[in-house]
Amino acid sequence: MSSSDHLLTWTIGSVRITRVEERVVDMPWGGLIPTSPELVDGCQPWISPFMSADHTKLLLSVHSFVVTTPETCIVVDTCIGRDDLSIAGDAGFGDRLAEALPGGFEAVDIVVCTHLHFDHVGWNTVEVDGRLQPRFPNARYLVTAAELAAERDQEDGRAFAASIQPLLDASVLDVVEPDHRIDSWVVLASSPGHTPGHVSVRIADGAAQAAITGDLVHSPLQFAHPEASTISDNDPALATTTRERVVDELADTGVLVLGTHFPPPTSGHIRRSGRDVSFEVADEPTSP
Ligand SMILES: [Zn+2]
Repeated sequence: MSSSDHLLTWTIGSVRITRVEERVVDMPWGGLIPTSPELVDGCQPWISPFMSADHTKLLLSVHSFVVTTPETCIVVDTCIGRDDLSIAGDAGFGDRLAEALPGGFEAVDIVVCTHLHFDHVGWNTVEVDGRLQPRFPNARYLVTAAELAAERDQEDGRAFAASIQPLLDASVLDVVEPDHRIDSWVVLASSPGHTPGHVSVRIADGAAQAAITGDLVHSPLQFAHPEASTISDNDPALATTTRERVVDELADTGVLVLGTHFPPPTSGHIRRSGRDVSFEVADEPTSP
């Protein structure tokens, strides 16, 4: 991991991953993960970077990951980009995203929507001459069929109308399988429960591997306690099963885990010791 002022970067073999932050908010643990207040102390000391100094709040980051492989420029999730929803966006995000995309928005080949909640799709579109259009003019946007169907049914359709419907109108939204392979290095991984068609992202170049969680977890506390669902998990039982499976798959493997809502340092490794699971911040930076 290396960092400029506000961009964190990791290198996985020939793949470069950059975190582009929109904002970090704090919120009471119990307001997002109802069972978490009594679990926090048992997750010390490794949980410390991901909560407030007084332990009462978790720090929730909203950021995109730019994943650049030898063949493909990918943006994983596009944050909030609006100010009329429960967490407001940050207008400066566009400049930071441009900084992480040396070829500009035109260079983006693929936008992965891990799911269609408002804090993951907000910068999908841009208003030009009063009309919402795809922000990345040459990109295909990827979503699963289950996710698209579920989000169409939402009562509050503001995010869908602003950030998804214009993609459908422009014929740039591709419905893909939850295990869709993007190129030799990047593949989607089904991780339902938070939403019906939720996907994570796996990156591999030989032995060097990383996993972008999406919202299968909102805090690394949930690796240690997979049953600790958030209030926004659509199917808490399925979300728990998914978290248990992912912990089984990734614990003690060396796969670098990048949390979609984890504040800096954002990355770490899942470790298991007997019945205890922890999330250990990577102390050795990967090469810039
Ligand atoms: Zn989210």
